[in-house]
This record gives sequence, C-alpha cells and structure tokens, in this order.
Amino acid sequence: MKNDCVFCAIEAGEIPSQKVYEDERMFVIKDIEPKAPVHYLAIPKRHYKLLRDMTDADRDDLGKIFATIPAVADRLGLQNGYRLIVNQGDDAGQTVFHLHIHILGGHAMDFPEL
Ligand code: AMP
Repeated sequence: MKNDCVFCAIEAGEIPSQKVYEDERMFVIKDIEPKAPVHYLAIPKRHYKLLRDMTDADRDDLGKIFATIPAVADRLGLQNGYRLIVNQGDDAGQTVFHLHIHILGGHAMDFPEL
C-alpha cells in the first residue's frame, strides 16, 4: 500500500467505493465520474505506478487481471462489447498513478483520431 494513493485507500477500505468484483489480486469499482453509460475500473491490489514499473512476475499478475475482465464485463451487462483503456502518464491524461484498466461500454463508441 502506498500513502496518498486513492486506489490503495479504497483497497484498504478507507475510502468508500462501489465494488462489483474482488479476488486475491484485483478489484473492480464503479468510476466516480463515468465517461460512458457503463464505466468501471479494474485495479491491481499491488501498487504499480505505471506499466514500466512492473517486473516479469508482475506482468503475470496483469495477464491474469486481463483474463478476468471478460467475466466481469458479462456481469456488468456488456455482452455487446466494451472498450479497455490504460492511460500511461501525463500526455494520456492519467490522473491516478496506480495502474488501472478502464472498462467502458453501454453504447456504441466511435474510435476517433486523437
Ligand atoms: P486516469 O485518468 O486514467 O488516471 O483515471 C482515473 C479514474 O479514476 C478517473 O476516471 C476518475 O474518475 C476515477 N476516480 C478517481 N477517484 C475515484 C474514486 N474515489 N472512486 C472511483 N473512481 C475514482
């Protein structure tokens, strides 16, 4: 756990959240400022700031997290599809520096040029 990290504080139960899934390595919460009709965050329990901070063993953790997301998406009613976003750093607009995967869906989405 890292001090001053909002997702570590949520994991520790110090900040309330709407948790829809949890296992030994990850949890999934509703995003507090949804950017789509359905917007959740899949968050590793271990604090990684960025993908570049992960070791090979950590990447195994991340692979298992990605493998869990389809079942969580089904539970969220996203059978028609969804988008995963992992912001990395300032240019991507990352605001919480604890690795997380956005799960977005609930309507058809464009894929605009950025
Ligand atoms: P990013 O910009 O990729 O770092 O995304 C951070 C996300 O965390 C944003 O979509 C925020 O709305 C969301 N967020 C920040 N604080 C909380 C919180 N306490 N509970 C749920 N989501 C949060």
